[in-house]
Amino acid sequence: MALNKQTQAIRIQAEKTGEKEHSTPVFLTSSFTFETAEDMRAAFADENDDNIYSRYSNPTVDEFVKKMCMLEGAEAGFATASGMAAVFNSIFALLKAGDHLICCSSVFGSTYALATKFLPRYGIECTLVSANANDEWEAAVQPNTKMIYLETPTNPQLEILDLEWAGDFCKRHQLIFNVDNCFASPILQNPIEFGADIVSHSATKWIDGQGRVLGGVVVGRADLIHDIYMFCRNTGPSMSPFNAWVLTKSLETLDVRMERHCKNALAIASYFENHDKISWLKYPFLPSHPDYAIAKKQMRAGGGILCFELKGGIESGRKFLDALQLLSMTPNLGDTRSIASHPASTTHSKLSEAERLSVGITPGLIRISAGLEYVQDVINDIEQALTSC
Ligand SMILES: *Cc1c(COP(=O)(O)O)cnc(C)c1O
Repeated sequence: MALNKQTQAIRIQAEKTGEKEHSTPVFLTSSFTFETAEDMRAAFADENDDNIYSRYSNPTVDEFVKKMCMLEGAEAGFATASGMAAVFNSIFALLKAGDHLICCSSVFGSTYALATKFLPRYGIECTLVSANANDEWEAAVQPNTKMIYLETPTNPQLEILDLEWAGDFCKRHQLIFNVDNCFASPILQNPIEFGADIVSHSATKWIDGQGRVLGGVVVGRADLIHDIYMFCRNTGPSMSPFNAWVLTKSLETLDVRMERHCKNALAIASYFENHDKISWLKYPFLPSHPDYAIAKKQMRAGGGILCFELKGGIESGRKFLDALQLLSMTPNLGDTRSIASHPASTTHSKLSEAERLSVGITPGLIRISAGLEYVQDVINDIEQALTSC
């Protein structure tokens, strides 16, 4: 029977214990036993897909990975202990010294550090290019370019990169197309439909969605995932079975949660769009967003994040955070609880203003991650906090 994706996210079950349990069991075991020496030899020779050791595979982790592959339309996947482990291995396991990477400059902070500080140490060269500056991307291609890496929507400016254009670009230049799909979640956007070869996620965000565990996953083309798997199997960034159990249960509700996150974010964005303390506000599914047409083409809804610029700059940002009574001040996003952040005075306060501007962090930039609360309560809190800015 052909099943809809939402049904499969609820019903896929990798393995049962024999106890006829209804919910998913958690296989907390570091290794698996064999009946005979021959069985164990065959498992190590990759002649069957038996579980051997939980650094390589585990039934609970497999269930999470199977659901993620189904949701992204991917052939294979591997789950990691955090989103950064997924991002790092999706690049490092596929490139070698002498290879060149083209990376969008608007990427998650640790990814930026990876591309600019750490990969060059191992002889992997990286060129940063601006989001949607198609000429810059074309000009960056070198004979040794192997991969492009991007996120969309970007953090924190919510730029939308055109996945269809990027897919075509990679085909023309025969490059591996690597996308971090964390901000959209697999419910709102599937980069593989636009030609992506590799999709990574921080499962810590919307996928858990309840602020409990760290996790990551890489899915994509079977040949590339095999190389990533062999690298990870020997280097050990594997996801713990317990975290996989939390996350596979989370996937059962991701669709309904994203629907409400998006509805709340749109309501908040629409309410504050023309507020007199705000110079601009961005939400991908508001027609005022500069990349609205691209967002409409590749996303099913606008996502749970919006951002705006306070007219009063950096001092107003600090006052805004201090005046909040309901929204949380925490360096995370994608939670049932709404979160506000002011990068210029907190996460990015160590950078100079010029450095901040180069990564899209303007002085009064506030990012809101819309939770699942009754939305009028969230709007009321933002409104009262704005009066003190
Ligand atoms: C949080 C985040 C990551 C890193 O994920 P962790 O689980 O914190 O390691 C990577 N990319 C994006 C877009 C993120 O928001």
